[in-house]
Order: sequence, then C-alpha cells, then structure tokens
Amino acid sequence: MWNWLPHGLFSRRQRGDDIDEALWTATLKAYGFLASLTPAEQHFLRQLCGEFLAEKQFHGAQGLVITDAMALSVAAQACLPLLHLEPKAQPAKLLRWYDDFVGIVMHPDEVVAAREVADDFGIVHNYDEVLSGESMDQGPVMLNWHDVARSDATAAEGYNLVIHEFAHKLDLRDGQGNGCPPLPHGFLGTTSAAAARAAWLAVLQPAYDGFREQVIKAERFSGTAPWMDAYAAESTAEFFAVACEAYFVQRERFTQEFPPLRKLFDAFFDRPIF
Ligand SMILES: [Zn+2]
Repeated sequence: MWNWLPHGLFSRRQRGDDIDEALWTATLKAYGFLASLTPAEQHFLRQLCGEFLAEKQFHGAQGLVITDAMALSVAAQACLPLLHLEPKAQPAKLLRWYDDFVGIVMHPDEVVAAREVADDFGIVHNYDEVLSGESMDQGPVMLNWHDVARSDATAAEGYNLVIHEFAHKLDLRDGQGNGCPPLPHGFLGTTSAAAARAAWLAVLQPAYDGFREQVIKAERFSGTAPWMDAYAAESTAEFFAVACEAYFVQRERFTQEFPPLRKLFDAFFDRPIF
C-alpha cells in the first residue's frame, strides 16, 4: 500500500504541465481533429499526454530517431479516445486502459512481415504481409511514422493509424479482441455485464455484417466500394478499430454512414463531463 497518498495532495504539478507549451500548441494545430476540440478537452488531453509520455517508452526501429514532437503526436492521438471514458477526469487512472504494455515501436514506414501458416492438409504456406501497425494483448504497439505524420491529411478518409492500434488495446482490455471493449456498469441502462455486451453487439454486429456484405459485393460484382477502409470487413475486432478511427477523425461522414453506431460510440466514448 505504498501509493495510498493520492497524487496531487500537495499541489503536485500535473504531468501535462511538463509538456512544452510551444510544442503542445503546434501539435494541436497540426491535426484538425485535435484543433477542433474544446479548450477544456484540449487541456485535459494535455494531462493525459503527460501521463502517457511518463509511462510509455518509444523505440525507433531501423534507425528512426524519435523526437519529442513525434512522441507527443502519438500520445495526443492515442489519448484522444480516453477523453470522456470512465473513470472521468482522472488522467492516471484512465491510462490504465493502456497499462498492459510499455513499449511503442515506431518504424519509418510500413513493415513487410514474413508469415507462415499451415493449411488443413498440413502444408505450410509462406507469404509476406504488409503491416502499417500492430497491437497485441500484453504486447508493445507497433506504428509507422509515415502514416502517423500524415494523420491530418488522411482524416478525410477516416484513416488514423494511432487510433486504430489503440482501439485494439481498448477492445483487448478484457483479454479478448472481438470488437466489444469492457463496458461501464449500467451501460445503455443495462443491469449486468452480459446484458451490456448483448446491447453492444446488437448494434455492432448488424453494422459489421452490412459493411462486410458491401465489401464482398464491391469486390465480386463491381459494386460501389464502401467509404470506410475495406480492411474493416476482416473481423468484428478490425471493424471496431477502423470504425473508431472514423468516429474520432471524420465524425460527420461516420454519422452519415453508420447512424446506429454513432449513437453506440457516443454512449461509450463521448459522455461529456466538461
Ligand atoms: Zn487492426
């Protein structure tokens, strides 16, 4: 019980205050989806970033040097989904959503990973998979700077690599990557964890099924390609991660495309306290 004394009891400086003012302002300006937050949200995001940067370790791969600006850019995008989550307004406790790992490995660009799978007949197939990033339960997050640096430009498409990988972390928080993060008590008026999960899936599953069908039609029968990244059709876990990207960086279009999902995500992510 060494940590019984609450942080901040003796007017401890908040960790967000340690972030350089000019760097913080430049980071907000660099990304439209951060610049459009309210001043109160930006202030709280800064506190979250302070905690994030104190807890996480960045590693540059292939000789990439991680500057303060790069680390802050990742921190701000990674912490964006936490802004209104439970427990509200407590930066250190909110960072527990991400406390199953410490390391963030940043590559300069996409990575080609050699994969090996055995089929039903035991024949081993080797193939290369191009990865923009990766997130595993209890493991480090892998990102590539090329995509992170273009986050403002790619927001129009609803694409955001950092939010994608950290949405997986939220989803994996209960040990299972299935598109349903652990939900707060009483979520959508439910009275049990099972009912909350059922309420979540009652919205997510049909949205996923409809999207998947649209992707298949587009690929096989030259139908209209859906707006959101077709990769979301891989699984409900990927659908959740891709939908989170769109929800946070291109909310207007996301709402047009997935009205029920917008309401579901609002209930989870966006219950304002400010
Ligand atoms: Zn993914």
